Amino acid sequence: MRDIYRLWRPSPLYRAHRLEAALKTPARIYYKYEGVSPAGSHKTNTSIAQAYYNMKEGVERISTETGAGQWGSALAMSCCFFDLECMVYMVKSSFEQKPYRKSLINLWGANVIPSPSNQTQSGRSILEKYPDTSGSLGIAISEAVEDAATHENTKYSLGSVLNHVMLHQTIIGQEAMTQLAKVDDYPDVLIGCVGGGSNFSGISYLFLQDKIKKGKEIDVVAVEPTACPTLTGGEFRYDFGDTAEMTPLLKMYTLGHEFVPPPIHAGGLRYHGDSPIISRLYADGLMGAVAYHQTEIFDAAVKFARTEGIAPAPESAHAIKCAMDTALECKKSGEEKTILFNLSGHGHFDMGAYDSYFNGAMTDE
Ligand SMILES: *Cc1c(COP(=O)(O)O)cnc(C)c1O
Repeated sequence: MRDIYRLWRPSPLYRAHRLEAALKTPARIYYKYEGVSPAGSHKTNTSIAQAYYNMKEGVERISTETGAGQWGSALAMSCCFFDLECMVYMVKSSFEQKPYRKSLINLWGANVIPSPSNQTQSGRSILEKYPDTSGSLGIAISEAVEDAATHENTKYSLGSVLNHVMLHQTIIGQEAMTQLAKVDDYPDVLIGCVGGGSNFSGISYLFLQDKIKKGKEIDVVAVEPTACPTLTGGEFRYDFGDTAEMTPLLKMYTLGHEFVPPPIHAGGLRYHGDSPIISRLYADGLMGAVAYHQTEIFDAAVKFARTEGIAPAPESAHAIKCAMDTALECKKSGEEKTILFNLSGHGHFDMGAYDSYFNGAMTDE
């Protein structure tokens, strides 16, 4: 497992000098870049561990869902390393928006089909009720769970939300803290985008521990789309993790397990719920949350690509937007704050989204 981690870890921590100059901000902006993994996001930090432990237990086949395709790719690669079969239910809107994610999943030897599909009872009943649905993570999870329950020696694997996934991702924050210490810096503001909460947990938990145990003053901010405003618009209560009500109940901020968000390009942020740990931290006031519209996210993504060079995933662009806004506030107040954000993945498979932004077809969800 550690040997495989060496393919991309430690991931780089960059100081955004050119972005700072373009914004004329006195703030220092750093970002941890998780797009250097072979699948293009932080998801491999947990997929490798999950595939390894399944292999150790003698499991032969893994089923899962994927939104934007990042998790499906990461798990496909990991299953390939540990000789496991892999079956991926991919949210239909993303399957259509990102055809090359499907190719990548196939390249690593996994099967992938659009969800809702006619392969499962939960898929068929959704299709009967809503034949034109764009799908959702909640529906795809139901299909993958049902698949595991109805196939021999198959386990279901989730790429976010659950505690073990958050734990695997904390490698991001451990490295970031060490890297920042080398340049004698420490964040005043810490930012990450939130779908199910895993990359955010990864970058923030160790710093939140400092805040809770050592009284460090640090603002921790989760960023989500206004089209799927789980923390900023949801309720904190018990809910199912999936649409067909097959998962255990989780206490979390939720928009309701039947909520189907509009098909925004940040497919990885289209989840009705959130990590129970993040939900609790938010309810206790230890962190904040903001939501942004789709076009302002892409404005920020383009500015970032044109200053820092990296083409960000639309999900990660939510964190970029918030970091830029924070840096602009510093410009007004004259404060030299240190801002750290997690750049959770690259956008090399999201060129269709960038095209629709440039040709004016993008809707401002
Ligand atoms: C999956 C994904 C997300 C959202 O999932 P979290 O579990 O909230 O991290 C964000 N960014 C990228 C690049 C992703 O692939």
